[in-house]
Amino acid sequence: MGYPLSRPEIAPEDIAAVTEVLNSPHLALGPKLAAFEKAFAEYIGTTYAVAVNSGTSGLHLAIRALDLGKGDEIITTPFSFVASANCILFEQALPKFVDIDPVTLNMDPDRIRKAVTKRTKAILVVHVFGLPCDMRAIEEVADEYDLAIIEDACEAIGATCDGTKVGTFGDAGVFAFYPNKQMTTGEGGMLVTDDAQTAELASSMRNQGRTAKSSWLAHERLGYNYRMDEMSAALGLSQLSRIDKMLAKRSRVASWYKKALEEVEGVSPLSDVEGCQRSWFVYVVLLDRGHTRSEVMERLESWGVDCRAYFPPIHLQPLYRDLFGYKVGDFPVTEEIAGRTLALPFYNSLRQSDVEDIVEQLARAIK
Ligand SMILES: *Cc1c(COP(=O)(O)O)cnc(C)c1O
Repeated sequence: MGYPLSRPEIAPEDIAAVTEVLNSPHLALGPKLAAFEKAFAEYIGTTYAVAVNSGTSGLHLAIRALDLGKGDEIITTPFSFVASANCILFEQALPKFVDIDPVTLNMDPDRIRKAVTKRTKAILVVHVFGLPCDMRAIEEVADEYDLAIIEDACEAIGATCDGTKVGTFGDAGVFAFYPNKQMTTGEGGMLVTDDAQTAELASSMRNQGRTAKSSWLAHERLGYNYRMDEMSAALGLSQLSRIDKMLAKRSRVASWYKKALEEVEGVSPLSDVEGCQRSWFVYVVLLDRGHTRSEVMERLESWGVDCRAYFPPIHLQPLYRDLFGYKVGDFPVTEEIAGRTLALPFYNSLRQSDVEDIVEQLARAIK
C-alpha cells in the first residue's frame, strides 16, 4: 500500500456546500465570498480579510497595497517556497535574502537587523513549515527602521506566538488554500489586515481595479483578476468551520511521528520552540549528515512512500542565479539545512499504524 505526500480532508458537508452554490444563481462575487472573508477575519483576529485566487496573488497584492516597488529592498528568507520571493520581483523590488536560524529554520532576526540599508522598506517573513518567526524581535527591527512587515503565513494557519495568531503581527498577512495546505479551497488565498486602506486597495486590485462604489466598467487603478469564486469560498467556509479540529488531527499525527522517530537513528524531527505553537503543514525530518538524501528518497518512492525535498534554496533556483548571480555558499545555513530536509506523507486521515509503517520504511531506507 502506498502513501501520498498529502491529501485534503473533504467531508460530505464540504461537497454539500459546493453543490449548494452550483444550484444557486451566484458562481462569482456572491454571498459566500463575503461570508468566508468575515469568518476568516474573525478566526485570525484581524479587522479585514480579502479572499483571492491563490496565496501568490495575495502576496502580490500585499506588496502593491503597501506601495512597495522599484528600487525598494525587501528583506526575506531564501528558505521558502519560491512565491514568497517572486512576489517581490513582480514589482521590480529587490529581495534581500538573509540566512536562517538552524533550529527554527526561519529568518535569523540578528541577520535581519544587519541587512537593513537606506533602501530597505519592508520585511517579508515566512513562517516556514508552520512555525512562527520570532515576531517580537522582528517587530523591534521594523519599528526601529520604520519598515513594513508582510507575513507569508501560507503554511501557518492557526499557529501562535505567545498566544497570538500569525497573520495579526504584520501590516498584511497572507494565507493559502492549495490542496496540500491545512485547509483548502482548491486554489485560493486570503490577505488579512487591520488597515482599512490596505484592505480596500487589495479588494479593488483583485477585481480589475474596480471599487465598491464604481460601476462594472469603471476601473480606478491597475487591477487584476485575482478573485475567488463562490464554489471555492463555500468550500473554504465549510473547511474553516472545523479548522481547529483539523489542526488537532494534524498535531496528533505529528506526535505519532515524533514518537516513532525516537527509535530511528540517522534522522531527527524539527525542533519545538518555547512559546510558539506550530501549525502542522508538512512533516519534515532532518537526515543526519553523511546520508545521501536522493538515495533515501528513491528507496522510499519505490516502496510507495511519497516524499519531497522541501525546500531547495530560492537563491540557487536558475531564475535567481541568472538575475542576481547567486552561487553555492552565499547562504550556508540555508544550503546545509536544505540539503538534509525530507518531507514525509502527512495528512489528517493517517492512522498511528500508518505512521509507524512509514517510519519503519524510512529506517530501512536510511540503513
Ligand atoms: C503555498 C505557499 C504560498 C502560496 O501558494 P499558492 O500556490 O499560490 O496558493 C506562498 N508561500 C509559501 C511559503 C507557501 O508555502
